[in-house]
Amino acid sequence: MPTLTLDAIRQRVRARLREQHALVERLLRRRELLAGSLFMRWGVCGKKGCVCQAGQKHGPYYVLSTRSGGRGGFAYLDAARAGEARALVKAHRDYRADLQRLRKVNEQLVVLLRRYQEATTRRGGRRVGIQPQTST
Ligand SMILES: [Zn+2]
Repeated sequence: MPTLTLDAIRQRVRARLREQHALVERLLRRRELLAGSLFMRWGVCGKKGCVCQAGQKHGPYYVLSTRSGGRGGFAYLDAARAGEARALVKAHRDYRADLQRLRKVNEQLVVLLRRYQEATTRRGGRRVGIQPQTST
């Protein structure tokens, strides 16, 4: 890792804190989520001579598959509900992505603060005439 000046480390810490703040605000604003996925299905019926048997299948049918509390389920939705469900499913994906990013930002903050501490300790040591120990 390149050596950073104390100012550079402080700048990076502040940038991470700003991102952390924005992420937390966004996570708090998200209320309605849906853990699941939305599929489109086309079907073939049993009617003789129906266009579906010539390849023009019926549909689309919207299928929402959900997994909550370890149990999976699915439901057929009409186009309007499917649109709603799609937005909620996306909100859930975004929520998880934000959480993951928050975890990463927090890790980076810890690393930066350690580097900051190391840099200031080296400085303080020099001030009182102690040579930094070389780690091998
Ligand atoms: Zn048919």
